[in-house]
Amino acid sequence: MSLAHLLLRHAQLTPERIAIFNGVELHATYGQWAARSAALAQRLQAAGLVPGDRLVLFMRNHPRYLEILWAAWWAGLVVVPVNAKLHVHEVEWIIGNAQARWAFVTADVAPETLGGLERQIDVESPDADALLEPLTHTAVPAPAERQPEDIAWLFYTSGTTGRPKGVMLTHRNLMTMGLTYFVDVDPVSPVDAIVYGAPMSHGAGIYAIPHLMAGARHVVPASGGVDPAELFALGRALGPLSTFAAPTIVKRLVDHAEEVGLSPQDAAQSFKTIVYGGAPMYAADIARALRVMGPRFVQIYGQGETPMVGTALSREQLSDTGHPRYQERMASVGVAQTPVQLRVSDEHGVDLPVGEIGEVLIKGDSVMAGYWRNPDATAAAIRDGWLFTGDVGCLDADGYLTLKDRSKDLIISGGSNIYPREVEEVLLTAPGVVEAAVVGASDSEWGEVVVAFVVAQPGASVNAHSLDQHCLEHIARFKRPKRYVLVDSLPKNNYGKVLKTELRRRLSGPQNESTA
Ligand code: AMP
Repeated sequence: MSLAHLLLRHAQLTPERIAIFNGVELHATYGQWAARSAALAQRLQAAGLVPGDRLVLFMRNHPRYLEILWAAWWAGLVVVPVNAKLHVHEVEWIIGNAQARWAFVTADVAPETLGGLERQIDVESPDADALLEPLTHTAVPAPAERQPEDIAWLFYTSGTTGRPKGVMLTHRNLMTMGLTYFVDVDPVSPVDAIVYGAPMSHGAGIYAIPHLMAGARHVVPASGGVDPAELFALGRALGPLSTFAAPTIVKRLVDHAEEVGLSPQDAAQSFKTIVYGGAPMYAADIARALRVMGPRFVQIYGQGETPMVGTALSREQLSDTGHPRYQERMASVGVAQTPVQLRVSDEHGVDLPVGEIGEVLIKGDSVMAGYWRNPDATAAAIRDGWLFTGDVGCLDADGYLTLKDRSKDLIISGGSNIYPREVEEVLLTAPGVVEAAVVGASDSEWGEVVVAFVVAQPGASVNAHSLDQHCLEHIARFKRPKRYVLVDSLPKNNYGKVLKTELRRRLSGPQNESTA
C-alpha cells in the first residue's frame, strides 16, 4: 500500500471525474491523471530508476507537479520537492546530499543545467510531454510495492548549523496526515476543490493528499504564484475553494477583500476554508480576518518533522466568541490533533504543570522516520519516540497550546524559514566584513524581517548596497537582510557569544547606530 494507490482507486471508481485545473482550464480527469502518472512511472523504471531512488522537483506551482508526484510514488521513488526560491548553490547541495538522480524543473526557477544529476527535464518541454503521454501498447503497470514505513517525501528543512536536513516522511506519515485532515481540519467531499495558493513543495502541496483521498478537484493558479485577486476570481469561477496560507498571505487576502469592498458573503462564494499556520498569527489579525471574510478559518501548527499535524484550532473554536477564554484561545494554536499526543516538558523531558513554559514534544504516526543520513540529528530530535520540536510554549487546563517563542533563533519571514547562521556565514565572506550577527525584527507585513548587524574593517567601504550585492550572489533572495546596521562592535557575553537578545532589544528601542 502506498500513496500511489489513492490515485489508482479514484481512477478506477470515477475516471471521468474532473481532477486538475490549470487556472480555469481543465487539465486532467482522474482517469487522465492516473494514465499520465502510470506512464511516467513506467518510463522512469525503464530508464533504470528503482524504488527508493530520489527524484527532485524544482519548479513553480504547476499542474504537472501533481502528475509527477504521483508518478514518482507509482514507481516507488522518493520525491524531493525543493523550495523554488532557493539559490542554485543551495539546490545543488540538496541534490548532492539526497543523491538524487533525476529532476523535473520549470525554466523560470532552474538554470539549464543543475550539477549532480543524471537527467533534468523541463516540465514544459516536448521531452516531458513524451514522458507523460499515456501508454497505448503496453499494459499500465501496477504501483510499485511499498511498505508504510518506506520514505515517500524527503523534505529539506534549514538546519541551525546552516545546512538543511532531509526530513524523511514515510507513506504512513503522509497517510496519517491525510486522514487527520478530515477529522481535525475540514471534511472534504468530491464537489470541493483545493487551490494551491502557496508553494507545492511545502504544506500546500502535502494537502493534495487529503483532497485526492476525497476525490476532490485540484486548482493550480495559472500564474503559479500568489495573487489575491486571482485567487478570489478562481473561487468565483470554480469555488468555493479551500487553501493553505501562511499568515502573511491571509493578510493579503483580507487586505484585498477590504480594498475592493467584498462582504463576508462574497468571500464565502470564493473560499470554503482557509487553513493558516507555519508562522505566528497575531490575535488582532485573525480577528480582522474573521470580521472581513467570515468563519472560514482553521489554524494548524506543525513542522516539517510532523507535517501539518501538531495542533489545530478549529472553525468552531474560532467562532465561539462567547467563551470566557476566547481571547486566550485565539492567541493559541489550539489542541493536539487526533493522531498525536502532545506535552510540554523541561530540558530533561519531564512534564511541566499547566501554564508553565517548556519545549513542545509530539508523538504519533505523523512524526518523521528521522533525518536523512544524519543519525546524530535524529537521536537529538526523537527521544523515546517523542519529537522534540524546538518550539516553546505552554498548555492550559483544557489542552490548548500557546507558543511563546522558538528556542532556536529561526526567523520566519512571510512564512519562509530563515536561519540567521546561514546569512551570517555569507556576510562574513563579503570583503571588508569582520563580524556579522543576524536577527529578526517584527514587521507588520512579513511577520519578521531579517536585520544584519555588521562590523566592518576600519576604512573598508562596506555599505548596504555592497552587502546586498554579495548576498544576491550567494543565497536565496528571500533570505537577504532587509536592513543593515553598521556597528563598531557586537555585544557579547563572557564566553564571547554574541548576545542576540541585546540586538533584538536595540531594534525595538530607539536607534542610535547608523543604518548603512
Ligand atoms: P516548517 O518546518 O518549515 O514547517 O516550520 C515549522 C515551524 O514554524 C514550527 O516549528 C513553528 O516554530 C512554526 N509554526 C508552525 N505553525 C505555526 C503556528 N500555527 N503558529 C506559530 N508558529 C508556527
